[in-house]
Amino acid sequence: MEAESPMTCVDCGGTLRPLSYPPEDGWEPGDVIAYRCPECNERFDIVVPDPADDEYEG
Ligand SMILES: [Zn+2]
Repeated sequence: MEAESPMTCVDCGGTLRPLSYPPEDGWEPGDVIAYRCPECNERFDIVVPDPADDEYEG
């Protein structure tokens, strides 16, 4: 699963653009990233998932 796959607007299928830039240390699980859809101007707040939830070493 790609960690930086484009977010798709659930309303119109457009590609969401992030409103905020990642901090120097990168996003941390639990951080909220705001996205806006350029097609329908809808705003989405996406919570950064914890990678430990879906990436298992073994
Ligand atoms: Zn949209």
